[in-house]
Amino acid sequence: MKHLSRAFGRWCLWSAGAARRLVSALLLAPGLGLWAGPAAATEPVYSPRAEQVAGPVYAIVGPLGQRSQANAGLNANYGFVIGRTGVILIDSGASAYSAALLHKAVQAVTDKPVRWVLNTGSQDHRWLGNAYFAGQGAELQALAATARTQQAVASAQLAGMQRFVGAQMNGTQALVAQVQHTGAQVSLQIDGVQLQWLDTSAHYPGDTMIHLPEHGITFTGDLVYVDRLLGVLPQSSVRKAQAAFERLKALQPRRIVPGHGRVTDLAQAQKETGDYYRFLIEQVGAAARNMEPMDETLARHARPAAFFHLQNFEELHRANMNRVFTDFEANP
Ligand SMILES: [Zn+2]
Repeated sequence: MKHLSRAFGRWCLWSAGAARRLVSALLLAPGLGLWAGPAAATEPVYSPRAEQVAGPVYAIVGPLGQRSQANAGLNANYGFVIGRTGVILIDSGASAYSAALLHKAVQAVTDKPVRWVLNTGSQDHRWLGNAYFAGQGAELQALAATARTQQAVASAQLAGMQRFVGAQMNGTQALVAQVQHTGAQVSLQIDGVQLQWLDTSAHYPGDTMIHLPEHGITFTGDLVYVDRLLGVLPQSSVRKAQAAFERLKALQPRRIVPGHGRVTDLAQAQKETGDYYRFLIEQVGAAARNMEPMDETLARHARPAAFFHLQNFEELHRANMNRVFTDFEANP
């Protein structure tokens, strides 16, 4: 049932008219038990559920749309590895409230306590659940560059998340990771689990990916998006992202848990993320470098066939090109 609810939710998030009427009908249908809580009429409440990727490695795949009360700001992917004595959680959620939802999803799979939280990045939904897990006894870890950005963006993110989820932010504290690893590439062993932790600085400065060499699985953080278009923010770097994507390929992961979208492989990540970084750099960035007019460049690439089927395309593509053009104009 939960699975059905989520699949349906993904589909209807961005559909209009008919979907809205169908959801209203379902809301009125007695006994379905799928729809509860403070959701907008068009959006079912998202309930995080762990899916096994391989062995002790699990992913929690969030919905693709914007932050909302119905998804508790968990519109991103999370994951965890069950170690010898405890659970290593990758990213902690958007608030104390949503962290507790992630915790429940972990507890549905294992009785072991969450003893470590690793933050792959500094965007709100990757780390604002830190204090909740610290309160449960977990140790918070990040690369030092990630922690620096967390510190810098904390108050703005608390305020921003408040606008999306309101009272669900009550009791949330922004707690920066306590254990900070220096360097752009760190190899660790936690509770018998091997990890390679690599800086990407793709979406936010100090963003990272975590590779599990024993399992051939990479949690990419916001380096990779599938099923939906990735977003380029003012603080993103498509050049660093492209370089990091090459490092991801060199790791040759068998499975990829992207920052957003379903658990996937390198081929889909290449088509929907790697190729888009290349498009932005080689088409849009190059035009800026050649001092071509921005309006004409953006118009010429308004609907690239390779990408316009992706969710959130209409909302993001033009702004993405705009940011890359401006960036390459200022730093050719
Ligand atoms: Zn994200």
